[in-house]
Amino acid sequence: MQITVTQVAENRRRPKPNRGEKLGFGNRFSDHMFLMDFASGKGWGNARIVPYGPLSLAPSAMVLHYGQEIFEGMKAYFARDGAVCLFRPDQNAERLNRSAARMCLPEIPVEDQFAALRALVRLDREWIPRDEGASLYIRPTMIGTEAGLGVRPSAEVLFFIITGPVGAYYARGFDPVRILVEETYVRAARGGTGEAKTGGNYAASLLAAKKAKEKGFDQVLWLDAEHRRFVEEVGTMNIFFVLRGELVTPPLSGSILPGVTRDTVLTLAREWKIPVAERPVEIDEILKGAADGTLSETFGSGTAAVISPVGSFSCHGKEIQVGRGRTGEFSLRLYREITGIQYGEIEDRHHWIRRVE
Ligand SMILES: *Cc1c(COP(=O)(O)O)cnc(C)c1O
Repeated sequence: MQITVTQVAENRRRPKPNRGEKLGFGNRFSDHMFLMDFASGKGWGNARIVPYGPLSLAPSAMVLHYGQEIFEGMKAYFARDGAVCLFRPDQNAERLNRSAARMCLPEIPVEDQFAALRALVRLDREWIPRDEGASLYIRPTMIGTEAGLGVRPSAEVLFFIITGPVGAYYARGFDPVRILVEETYVRAARGGTGEAKTGGNYAASLLAAKKAKEKGFDQVLWLDAEHRRFVEEVGTMNIFFVLRGELVTPPLSGSILPGVTRDTVLTLAREWKIPVAERPVEIDEILKGAADGTLSETFGSGTAAVISPVGSFSCHGKEIQVGRGRTGEFSLRLYREITGIQYGEIEDRHHWIRRVE
């Protein structure tokens, strides 16, 4: 894949993150972006890196009407030895292609996705923050751009990658969150698009999340669409329970996003000889476990937080604590192991790290 590069003019460069500077999430973007076009019959072409800036789209572009969009999320960071690294980017690239297949968008060879990432991250290397835990968040995105209001797969597609510096997720400590069990709204149904990383799933989740925030909760726990009985995900993370010493998580049954962090957690737990079960989990079983103490830990997993401990559930108007509302031992062990591997402090036994340079 040939990538042409147009660098941003010297006088248009924006200030890069300084050491110790407070960085939020998703509100600042680096100088450059990667773009590539697809046309049916022609395939992918015109791979290019250009200054970050607005896209030009017809108001009739299909994505704006029928939501034909997918995305990914990953991080580039400086390891302890100064190398710029990505964590399991092949998994994100393969998932992008699975999301693409579900949403009738074209796939991109994994190696081409990596070449694009590498070229972009290298060029905007100075944008990777150097503070502990901070990183350069990477957002590959694909949209249907054909102008026209017919409901069909777009014959023209744009793939782009934007990046931006983000602060450490746990700037204020590894604190457990308060969860509201969502009994009215659902995120995704089996046979729907829940296992694709597509914007529509997020649009569908906003109202429940907003109402939960208004009531003082941090996230919602999604139940299955059919029965409102089985646990699915927490906010935008996969969910795990430590129940009677066993690590339990719902299976990938079609409505759940197959998280890279989820897979990482399962791989490590199996390596540590901890009993693991991917099985349907009833919310009543969890509430009962929280009440009688057999549920010792609950945590979410995702790229942004890595591990996010859950301190309590609220369901049927009652709040129940998990593990006395404190961060569990296993959550902490996983967090330390995964971040340790990422930063090169713990041996990368599974070849999860890809160096960008
Ligand atoms: C991205 C995402 C996750 C987490 O996936 P990771 O690959 O671990 O970052 C979980 N649930 C949803 C709904 C997501 O969109």
